[in-house]
Amino acid sequence: MTLRAYYTDSYTHQFEARVAGRTRHQDRPALVLDHTYFYPSSGGQPHDIGLINGLRVIDVITRDEDAAVLHVLEGELPEDVDAISGHVDWGRRFDHMQHHTGQHILTQAFVQIAGVPTVGFHLSSGTVTIDLETPSLADAHIAEAEALANRIIWENHPVSATIVDLNDTANVRIRRLPPHLLTGGLRVIDIDGFDVTACGGTHVAGTGEIGLLKVIRAEKRGDKTRIEFCCGGRALQDYRARHDVTSALAASLSVGLGDIPASVARLQDAFRSAQRELKAAASALLMHEAQAILAALEPDTRAVLVHVYERRAADDLKTLANALVARPGTVALLASVDDKTNCVFARSADLNADMGALLKTTLAALGGRGGGQPTLAQGAAPTVDASAVRAALDQAAASLA
Ligand SMILES: [Zn+2]
Repeated sequence: MTLRAYYTDSYTHQFEARVAGRTRHQDRPALVLDHTYFYPSSGGQPHDIGLINGLRVIDVITRDEDAAVLHVLEGELPEDVDAISGHVDWGRRFDHMQHHTGQHILTQAFVQIAGVPTVGFHLSSGTVTIDLETPSLADAHIAEAEALANRIIWENHPVSATIVDLNDTANVRIRRLPPHLLTGGLRVIDIDGFDVTACGGTHVAGTGEIGLLKVIRAEKRGDKTRIEFCCGGRALQDYRARHDVTSALAASLSVGLGDIPASVARLQDAFRSAQRELKAAASALLMHEAQAILAALEPDTRAVLVHVYERRAADDLKTLANALVARPGTVALLASVDDKTNCVFARSADLNADMGALLKTTLAALGGRGGGQPTLAQGAAPTVDASAVRAALDQAAASLA
C-alpha cells in the first residue's frame, strides 16, 4: 500500500519518490510510488493531475486489490529510472482543498440551521454540489446556512487531520468510508470542533483560506435537495462574471444596478404593447387593401380575384381573403411566394364551389398539399417559382368559370 503523504500534508506539491512498481491501466503506463502527494479520485473529490519527470499524470486511482495508488502517465518512463520527481498541479489541488473544506462547513451548517444531513457530494471542474436529505428547504434556511458557513470561514478556524480510535467515533460524522482510511484508526477532519468528519480528502489548514462560500442554486431532486455552491477562486470568478453582466446591463439601460429588474419589466411591457399596436395597424392596413381591391370591381358582379404576392405571412393572406369574400359573388385565390409558397382559397357564402377540393388539386400540381372547408382552404407548396404559381392559380380560376 502506497504511503499517502497528502494525508498529513496537503500543501507539498513538489516531491521526490522512488518507483515501487510499474503496471498498465487501460493501455497506459502506470506507476506505483513508495509515497505520493498525488490524490487519487475518491470520496467525491477528483484526482490530481501534474507531472512525473516531465510526463503528464492524466489519472490517479486506487487499485482495488491492495489500495496502491496508480499514477497513470501519458507516456513511458524509461525502464532504468527508479527515482522520480513529482509535480502536482497546485491550482487544481488548492481549488479542490477550498471546495472540499467548504463542503464540510456547509454540510455542518445545514445540520445546525435546518437539521438536515448531507447524503451526497460531487466536485468537478464545472460544478460543486451537495445533496441534502430533504425534498424541500426554505430560502431563509439556505441564506442562514450560507451566512453561518461564511462566519466560520472568516473566523479562520484551524483544520486538522487526525487518526482516532475506531471505538471512539461517537462524535464523528461518517457518510461513506473508503477501506484504505482504516490505517491504524479512522482519519477524521476536525474543523476546530465545529465539524468532525471521517474523510480521506485534502483540506486547507485554516478555514480563512476558503475566502468565501456562495450558494448558487437549490434544486429539488426527487426526495432530496441539491445545493450547488462555489468557494474561493471560483466564487471570485462567478462574482466577476455576474458583475460584468449586470454592469453591462445597467449601462445599456442607463439605470443603477438595483433598478435593472424594474427597467427590464418596463421594456417588456412596452414591447408587448408595441406588438399589440403593430398587429392592429397591420390588420387595418389589410382591411384598407381589401377595400381598394373591391372598390375596383363593378357592383353586383361575380369576381374571381387572383393575386400572387411576395413574402406575406400565411395569416395575413387569410385575413385578406376573408375580407375580400365578405363581398357576395366573390372568390379569392391568393398566394405568397417566399422560401415556399403559401396559398389561401376562399369564397363568399352565396357561392357553391368547393375551395378545399380546388386547393388540393392546385397544390398537388405544384408538389404541395393543403385542404380545408368548402368556403376556406389553405396550404403550401415547396416551389419558389412565382410564374408557375401564377399559372396554377389562373388555371384554378379558369376551372371555376
Ligand atoms: Zn473532506
